[in-house]
Amino acid sequence: MSSSTALSMPRKVEIFRRRFSGLGHVYGTYNPSTGRSWQVKAPVSERVIENHLLGKQPFGLYLLVNDKTQAAAVDFDNEDANPPCQFMHTAHRYGLRSYIERSKSKGYHVWIFFQTGGVPAVKARRVISHILDEMDISGIEVFPKQDALPVNSNSYGNFINAPLFGRLVPEGRTVFLDPARGLEPHPNQWELIEGIKSVTEFALDEIIELNGLRTSSNTQWTPVESLGVYRGKGTLPPCAKKMLVEGVIANQRVACFWLAVHLRRVGLPFDLAVAALCEWTHRNRPTHGKTILSENEVLAQSAAAFLKEYNGYGCDQPAIVPYCNPSCPIYTQGCTANLGH
Ligand code: SF4
Repeated sequence: MSSSTALSMPRKVEIFRRRFSGLGHVYGTYNPSTGRSWQVKAPVSERVIENHLLGKQPFGLYLLVNDKTQAAAVDFDNEDANPPCQFMHTAHRYGLRSYIERSKSKGYHVWIFFQTGGVPAVKARRVISHILDEMDISGIEVFPKQDALPVNSNSYGNFINAPLFGRLVPEGRTVFLDPARGLEPHPNQWELIEGIKSVTEFALDEIIELNGLRTSSNTQWTPVESLGVYRGKGTLPPCAKKMLVEGVIANQRVACFWLAVHLRRVGLPFDLAVAALCEWTHRNRPTHGKTILSENEVLAQSAAAFLKEYNGYGCDQPAIVPYCNPSCPIYTQGCTANLGH
């Protein structure tokens, strides 16, 4: 397989360290002949990375730094490429770019990279476990395996073998694959790594909030004065806020259904969502002699919305499109066309 030879080794080391960043004073390694792995308590120096890229000694990365991580890897320990591809597809629907790597022996790692400085691991792990739940798949390991390192402990969590171990690269192992080319090794590994799109903490927050996911830190309730009711700490997307504040003039039932979906996501109980939407109907201005929705119609739409966990945002619904705002993180991640309902 080919990879860029134009880059100098120091430049490769620099690019690699920026992407595969974790604890700097300890790392993991293994014996390529026997597979036996161990921990090395020594700085992650440029020489360590260089030896990894040259295929002399593998480098394993401890992702967790206190409670932050700059990357997460989902370990599909099986030759079947369908589950990792399905994971990538589902992640993409949530606006998350992911990258698939052929692991050293069997299976695949799917990587998601985060903003410089990292994101709370609890948020990254919560979103990833939600995606795996949606796939109805279990027994998949996610690195980092913990939400945070224990305080006052010598535990560093678990290391994950880093990509591009030089000895295995010519065999098409530990390399990133190109889903657009039938999972062939990506033709330019360094170009791919340099161009990786990072996920922000804000984007994770939006997914957590819009899907009503619970982490230990977001279970409080705060008042929403404009509705006279309560909602979870999560925020509604711009389209829902605009519809709630301004009311709608058409497609009241569809709008009511999606507003109920969003209110459920941010944690509003059913009866409060119905109360909020009954109040909302008085802001609607139906045309052509139509009347505002009755309480029974609001109840019916809300019941349908609360009946199951809808994962989409309604972005492609004609009733919602006029209220869309390009500042929405869902919109800016370019996934509106792919969101399922
Ligand atoms: S992209 Fe537009 S329609 Fe979709 S959730 Fe955001 S504001 Fe609403």
